[in-house]
Amino acid sequence: MVNAFSFACTACGKCCNSPPSMTLAELFRHRDLFIGCLAIARVPRRREGERLRVRGHGTVLDAADIAAFDSIAQTLLHRAGDTFSITTQGYDYPSVGRCPALEEDGRCAIHFARKPVTCEVVPLDPLVPDRLQHLVLAARNQSGAYFGANCIHEGEHADAALLVSDGHVVDASALDALTRRRSALAKEREVWGRAVFESLREDLFNSPAALARIPADGFLTISIVPAILAVASTSERCRQLCVDYIDSQIALIGRSVQQALLRRRLDDRPVTQELRGFANAYQRAKALLAVPLAAESRCSDASFASNVEMYLSGAAN
Ligand code: SF4
Ligand code: SF4
Repeated sequence: MVNAFSFACTACGKCCNSPPSMTLAELFRHRDLFIGCLAIARVPRRREGERLRVRGHGTVLDAADIAAFDSIAQTLLHRAGDTFSITTQGYDYPSVGRCPALEEDGRCAIHFARKPVTCEVVPLDPLVPDRLQHLVLAARNQSGAYFGANCIHEGEHADAALLVSDGHVVDASALDALTRRRSALAKEREVWGRAVFESLREDLFNSPAALARIPADGFLTISIVPAILAVASTSERCRQLCVDYIDSQIALIGRSVQQALLRRRLDDRPVTQELRGFANAYQRAKALLAVPLAAESRCSDASFASNVEMYLSGAAN
């Protein structure tokens, strides 16, 4: 068995150490639990012949690997010189060190209430071709978020299901989750991602100084408002759904900041500042969305508008 890894989650909660990446629809559904933001990251562009090596596992990328990376980039990512991912995700104080849905006993409070698909994909990475998922597992097996959880095993393991082997994701439920997450990311790109990318092109993606704000090994977080404005302009119903979402988020940010003030931690201060920036951006967006959309500014594609309405209201997912 080549490049095989097995996996058995005991729901210990160790990897639930921060809010997960979530679709806009998932954020709308769990609006009173997660503060939404946009996360922007650089995704390395791979070259044929490039050698990837992770903790004793390695490969040299061939033409098929590059085609697989390109296919992911074309459907899920954005290219402006470099390649970027723009996703929505939950945001919280890093000092809390846990996902807001993680309960004291280590269980997920929304496990049975349609928890984010990205949590079902764990520990795989939807932005990596299936043939290379063993490298993802090799890295995660030793990473801080999983260290000591003993849920990822090299090769076959008596108490774990075989997850990847010989370039394939062999566990049916993991493959299903991976497919659903990729499909959700493609839908996000269609519903708001492309519009947000274009709206940020001048000030971020075409500006080397602004791009320098994206950490090399992480992501830049900014207000989710550009995505909200993109979907709000789709139809009158979308505008109303967005205004409701904004109200919930302003209230949630207020509660979160209040709790931080009680903790009195110095390292919370920059996050409080960022959250206040999010709240201000929401207030400005709310003012913009206070009046019904003019007929000429609504989306003329009724079927697309209806899809977005169902998406945001939870009827389509
Ligand atoms: S660290 Fe491993 S065992 Fe614990 S919740 Fe995450 S995936 Fe499951
Ligand atoms: S939503 Fe649930 S499974 Fe996902 S990170 Fe939070 S606690 Fe963990």
